Amino acid sequence: MTSVAFIGLGHMGAPMAANLVKAGLTVRVFDLVPEAIKSLTDLGALAASSACGAAAGADVVITMLPAGKHVRSLYLGESGGGEGKGLIDVVARDTLLIDCSTIDAQSAQLVAKFAAEKELEFVDAPVSGGTAGAAAGTLTFICGGSDGGFEQAKNVLSNMGANIFHAGDAGAGQVAKICNNMLLSVLMVGTSESLQMGIDHGLDPKVLSEIMKVSSGGNWTLDKYNPCPDVMESVPSSNGYQGGFMVDLMVKDLGLSQEAALLSNSSTPMGALARSLYVNHARQGNGARDFSSIFEQFTNLKQVKNKG
Ligand code: NAD
Repeated sequence: MTSVAFIGLGHMGAPMAANLVKAGLTVRVFDLVPEAIKSLTDLGALAASSACGAAAGADVVITMLPAGKHVRSLYLGESGGGEGKGLIDVVARDTLLIDCSTIDAQSAQLVAKFAAEKELEFVDAPVSGGTAGAAAGTLTFICGGSDGGFEQAKNVLSNMGANIFHAGDAGAGQVAKICNNMLLSVLMVGTSESLQMGIDHGLDPKVLSEIMKVSSGGNWTLDKYNPCPDVMESVPSSNGYQGGFMVDLMVKDLGLSQEAALLSNSSTPMGALARSLYVNHARQGNGARDFSSIFEQFTNLKQVKNKG
């Protein structure tokens, strides 16, 4: 039976690891937060006392961490430059390494390079689909790495996702992912300002959403993640913008997309504006709230007062 080490059990990692347990794999988990480990051992996962402890002897290592610095230091050792003791130093020769975090392509390429020096396959496999997709096992995985690494990764990722793409070589998954998230941020801001303009003119946001969903403005945020409170059930906007995808993480992704644009001299005016709006929103104390809370940047004071 395939044994998987799963490291990073936050909003996304915990439900993803739970799906591996449900699929019958042997899953050894680690997170810096003990309660996160407990939530998985309650479901049948095995606990490890360190990341290296989880990874040693595993067939597959999966990480789901906040940012590039966490991924570099975990795989390569504390220095992040390959000199310390990292996961690549403790795993067996044929262990497959998969990082599902959203990070800069350069960090993914660096880890892949050090892994290759030890004859290890490293696949960057950032995800799309949010916490709901993670819980339902319907995530989209966007992979970068060798053909062989991708084929192996597909087997285990299929327990957590519905769509698994090979975008190209190491780092390509990360590039495709930040292109997607830059577009998502633009759609979320545009949907928010459109809904609020309708409300300002007396429209019911539920009716307006139904109209736009099947008209030319239709998009994922209207279909799955409406930012206006009480239009849709079971989305963060109807739950005080709790859970979901944090504003701080969207700010991180938009920073990554702007860095990528600079590297390639690409023109991304909408992405730049969306980043500014999200940075401003985070600075106003919204960093830990769901990214659809950007809607509140457009609501009028009366509306906010009535809510509270
Ligand atoms: P999160 O902050 O909820 O979880 C990260 C987890 O990693 C935390 O539990 C933290 O304790 C753990 N961690 C950090 N450093 C560690 C270490 N050295 N060893 C072990 N555990 C460590 O974040 P999240 O929302 O789960 O997102 C994870 C990644 O997935 C991010 O890169 C994010 O951009 C991406 N992502 C998130 C969503 C979403 O909807 N939340 C969607 C797509 C992609």
